[in-house]
Parts: sequence; C-alpha cells; structure tokens
Amino acid sequence: MSDVVGVLALQGAFEKHIEMLSALGVENQRVRYAHELDECSALIIPGGESTTMSLLIQKFELYKKLQEFAAEKPVMGVCAGAILMAETVDDARVIPLKIMPMTAARNNYGRQVCSFSTDLDLECDAEGLPYQAHFIRAPGLTPNSDKIEKLASYNGEPVMMRSGRHMALAFHPELTKDSRIHECWLKRFHPSFQ
Ligand code: GLN
Repeated sequence: MSDVVGVLALQGAFEKHIEMLSALGVENQRVRYAHELDECSALIIPGGESTTMSLLIQKFELYKKLQEFAAEKPVMGVCAGAILMAETVDDARVIPLKIMPMTAARNNYGRQVCSFSTDLDLECDAEGLPYQAHFIRAPGLTPNSDKIEKLASYNGEPVMMRSGRHMALAFHPELTKDSRIHECWLKRFHPSFQ
C-alpha cells in the first residue's frame, strides 16, 4: 500500500496541511476526485465551511467513496472537517459522513470575531509542553460513545478526540509551525512515525 496522505481539496484551508505534511517528509496529494482518493493511505478533511464542503462532496460524488475509505483507512477532520466526520450535525444543510461516533454543533464558540487562541495540554504528547491552538468558528464536539478517547479539552469540553485511527479536532493544527498534532495522528499508522 502507498503511504501517500491525501488532503481533501474541495474548499477551505487545505494548503497549510499540504505544507505541514511536506515539512514532515510525508508524501501527500490534494484530493478532489475519487480516483485520487484511491491513491491515498490516509486522508485529512480540512477546515473551511462545512455546508459548502458537504455540497461539493455530493457534487463530486465523493460521499459514499469517503465513507468506504474511512471504513478501512485513517481520517483526520479539522473543524469543518470534524463536523463532516460526525454522526449528527445541528444543521440539516450538512450531510454528515458518520465516520466518528460524535455529535457536532456548528459555530459553538461564536462567530468569526469570537475566534481565539489558547494553550492546551495534549494527552498524546509525551513531552507535555502546552500546545497553542487556534479556534476559528469552532464546532462543539460531543462523543456518543465511550470508545472515543479525549486527547485535549478546553473549559472541560473535548476539542480533540480519537477513535481508532481517526482523529477529530475543533481547532486548526495546520496554522502553526508546531507539528505535534499531525505527528500524533501519523504515529498510529504511518511507517515513518513508528
Ligand atoms: N463553523 C464552520 C462550519 O460550520 C467551520 C469553521 C472552520 O472550519 N474553521 O463549517
């Protein structure tokens, strides 16, 4: 199997993930079409606008394809990407992919002007240094199963979680030079990180 990590590039903040993966020496590619997904061994669904991304997923006929991909391969969803990975979403315009057993509430932390940065403790990081996380119109993510591992919390609410090889984040790990979050995800499956 190839070790190419795909980044869904239909809309939103995909370029910074490409940059981070390249900086980590991980082979990567943008994914817009189903055949490009076939070439990947893992996928990042970036932040952006979940309603628009959901429409584009239908338009590019990727809905079923993404679900089949996630049944076998790791997916990391960031912000809008995490909303799409949920089982249920509080907005009927988003058709969730049901990749992780969680519920997403869009814009839970307020509008664009309420965006903020804060230090988090990461449970998956051995060094234990604080991680500066950037929240931009971030969703609330509520686990629907006790199989979900909470990897970081903000004000007692989970903002980063893992279920098997999948990870969902309410904040944007690509908007910093600190690559610990991508590494934390890659460690579970990518040969260069084991
Ligand atoms: N609130 C946005 C949405 O619902 C997500 C914001 C983001 O990805 N930074 O799509």
